[in-house]
Formats: sequence, C-alpha cells, structure tokens
Amino acid sequence: MLLEGKIAIITGAASQRGIGRAMARTFAHHGARVVILDLDEKAARDAAEDLGSDHLGLAANVADAAQVSRAVEAVIQRYGRIDALVNNAGITQPLKTLEIRGSDYDKVLDVSLRGTLLMSQAVIPTMRAQKSGSIVCLSSVSAQRGGGIFGGPHYSAAKAGVLGLARAMARELGPDNIRVNSLTPGLIHTDITGGLLSDERLNGILAGIPLGRMGNAQEVADAALFLASDLSTYLTGITLDVNGGMLI
Ligand code: NAD
Repeated sequence: MLLEGKIAIITGAASQRGIGRAMARTFAHHGARVVILDLDEKAARDAAEDLGSDHLGLAANVADAAQVSRAVEAVIQRYGRIDALVNNAGITQPLKTLEIRGSDYDKVLDVSLRGTLLMSQAVIPTMRAQKSGSIVCLSSVSAQRGGGIFGGPHYSAAKAGVLGLARAMARELGPDNIRVNSLTPGLIHTDITGGLLSDERLNGILAGIPLGRMGNAQEVADAALFLASDLSTYLTGITLDVNGGMLI
C-alpha cells in the first residue's frame, strides 16, 4: 500500500482504456482516495464509482481557470488535503506543420500546457501549507525525439513545454517539499493511439523499440505510482522515460 491515506487528483482519468484510468485504479489499489477529473461529469463519476467507495469524479476542463479552481475547491472541501496531482489530460492531432491552424495549436497547447499550469497553480497553496506534495506531469517521447509518431509538431511543442514547466516548478517548489516530475511515455496502447497508425507504420516504429512492442497503460501507471509515492522522496525535476528503450 504505497499511497495509504493519500488524496490524489488525476486529470483525464475517465477514458476507459486511457493511461489516467489505469493510474486511478493503481492509486486506489494502493490505498489512495482518487479524484477523477475529466470533461464529462457522468463519465468522471462513473469512473470514480468503479474504483469503490470514497473516490470522487468531477467535471472540469483543465484549460479553464474557473472550472479548475471550482473543482480543486471541491476536493479540499471533501478531503481537506491534496497529496498528489497527476497532470495527465492531453489531446493530440496527427497534423503536419503546414496543416496546423491557430485553433489546432490553441486546442493542443491549452489542454497539455495551460492545463498543467492551471491545475498545478490550484493545488500548490494546499501542498505548500502541508509542506508536502507530488506533482506528476505527462509529457511524451514526442517532446524528446521531435514527434514523428502520432502527434503533430504542435503536440511535440506542448509536451516539450510541459518538461520545461515541470522542471521550473520543481526548482521553485523544492523548498516547500513539493516534488514535480515528468513522465515521457513512448508508444502506449490507448484510445489516443488506436487507429492513428497503419500496420506498416506501426511495424516500422516497433522495429526501433528495443523491447519490440507497444507499452500498456498499466506500465505508465506503475511509473506514476513510483513518482507519486514515498518511493521517490529524493527525486524532483526528473524525466522518467517509459518507452521500451526507444531513445537508446
Ligand atoms: P486518452 O485520449 O485515452 O485520455 C485522455 C483523457 O483526457 C480523456 O479521458 C479526455 O476526456 C481527457 N481530456 C481531454 N481534454 C481534457 C480537458 N481539456 N480537460 C480535462 N480532461 C480532458 O489519452 P491517453 O493515451 O491515455 O494519454 C494520456 C496522457 O498521456 C496524455 O497527456 C497523452 O498526451 C500522454 N501520452 C500518451 C501516449 C500514448 O501512446 N497513448 C504517449 C505519450 C504521452
């Protein structure tokens, strides 16, 4: 039980086959009370109910400051503390540079980058008062290798921005014992990847992965558990690659 008695918020955790949902199950299994925050209220509530009793499902768009602060206020009202935040919500679009319109750029950067900032801003005062907290930010191998898998350049930019934001927050918040770390998943089997790649393209990518396969959501969830829990109390500002060796 690595998260016994802890309160954890996971954004974008309602999607049935998603990485966030696997994290929610894993955190609950390890004793956390989990807040599932996602766009659709019913989906978030159903996902929280699936975890058992005393978990919470809330609707909020992570890119909307008012919705974020309302949701985090509800968490504080209910549980009185916040031990972990996983900034998992993210969207991608398989566009080439010249195809990206301003609205595409805004959409992708708003969810990953503005969302990570707004959610972190909303939990920091509580974590600061507690003198403890762990924030885990979902970046992507696309930030490191310059895309080329399933997201466009704007997705790579958003995810690279997340790495910079996480490191800067780690430096700033270290004195308050708030740790901020990033995960950079490689090719993970979820709804975001399903259907975006042809068999030929997929086989080409797999040939470049030393472990020779896609990862699964549970494997990313286990890495998030490590960063959210007291197994990693001396780690902050790191980027943990969960990619089957894709960058070796
Ligand atoms: P997914 O599409 O299965 O789940 C994303 C979830 O985020 C959904 O439940 C969606 O409703 C929610 N969401 C979208 N916009 C939101 C918003 N504005 N506010 C609140 N919630 C919102 O995606 P996934 O594959 O599980 O990816 C999870 C994270 O991991 C994302 O940040 C993604 O970029 C990142 N990632 C995924 C992969 C992969 O291969 N699947 C690889 C690297 C990084």
